[in-house]
Amino acid sequence: MVQAILSNLGILLLMHLMINTCLYLNQTKKIHDTLIPIIHIAIVTGTVITMFYFPISYHGLKFDFRLVPLIFLALFHGWKYTVPVVLLVCAYFSLAEGYTNFQELIFTTVFPPLMAVLSYPLNENKMDYLKTFWIIVVSWLVSDLAIVLASPNGLAIFRELVLIRATSILLCSYILYFFIYSGTAHLQLTKQLQVYAERDPLTGLYNMRKFEKVLSSFEPGSKKMFIAMVDIDRFKKINDMYGHQVGDQAIYSVGDIICRKLQKDMFAARYGGDEFIIFIAAETREQAVDQLEEIRLEIDNQSFFRGHREISLPISLSIGVAELLQIPDLKCTIEQADQQLYRAKKMGRNCVCG
Ligand code: GH3
Ligand code: MG
Repeated sequence: MVQAILSNLGILLLMHLMINTCLYLNQTKKIHDTLIPIIHIAIVTGTVITMFYFPISYHGLKFDFRLVPLIFLALFHGWKYTVPVVLLVCAYFSLAEGYTNFQELIFTTVFPPLMAVLSYPLNENKMDYLKTFWIIVVSWLVSDLAIVLASPNGLAIFRELVLIRATSILLCSYILYFFIYSGTAHLQLTKQLQVYAERDPLTGLYNMRKFEKVLSSFEPGSKKMFIAMVDIDRFKKINDMYGHQVGDQAIYSVGDIICRKLQKDMFAARYGGDEFIIFIAAETREQAVDQLEEIRLEIDNQSFFRGHREISLPISLSIGVAELLQIPDLKCTIEQADQQLYRAKKMGRNCVCG
């Protein structure tokens, strides 16, 4: 009996490990978003079916732990994940195992997740012990009762087993709950650290570390590569006239517009202060300059307001462009684009040079 309980605990923890690994790989962009529900459903279906083969056997009756993964799937992911798993499990039992006791199947496989789905969503960040306790206890009683009532001496067997059955199900459930809780907290922390490591906190654009990383894995094919240095014109004036917070708001708005105007084979980062850097892969230099002109015009035509007081801020951009012949040449290409930017400033600002 202890062996069966420990096997089931092992199966549950293996399920958690596999799901958590997939979520981590998804977070690091190694598994595509669309695959996650499919993998998740496959793992839980496999777990439920495996648990069927490791029941607590007592005087000819078999009690398994399948309600635990089903309840947790329903509690954390709702009916969209749960319905496919229940259908797949029922199909497996009917087709592969020749299961014909549909009443029992409904009580052991359909009822527990149905009860839990009604409590969805459960807060992943805050353990709700009491709610989970009641869902597990009621589901367990209903599912075991279906087995017990179908056997002539079932009630006596149930009475003998009730303590060990209740303890083991609750123990397995809370151990799994704890692992889900700490796993989720760990994934959220990694996500947060990833944002801190790769993004500029004010604009949300890439920082230079991430820019260089994305650039190093870029494959231009037959296209030419260009680096554009973008600087806000007379930005000090905005800071001096309206204060640094309005200045920050202006930098954020410019970053937001640049981000929205990025097309395929383009990415941008905040270089520092009021300067941005844009990478463009294009067939010709003229095409790259046209795309930058679009960004410059969008900013030029935009009205920037100071808070609710609606004082329009005059914001324009000067942009310098240089061709990046090879990816390792980034530093000297930035210098060349900076020289073009200096020219743009000299020519009266609000223009693209290069
Ligand atoms: P120019 O047209 O020649 O570029 O004139 P400018 O006034 O924009 O000159 P410059 O680009 O050298 O000035 C950048 C200013 O941006 C200097 C600094 O005080 C300010 N600055 C740098 N980082 C931040 C920031 O994060 N927030 C705010 N509000 N201001 C910043
Ligand atoms: Mg400036």
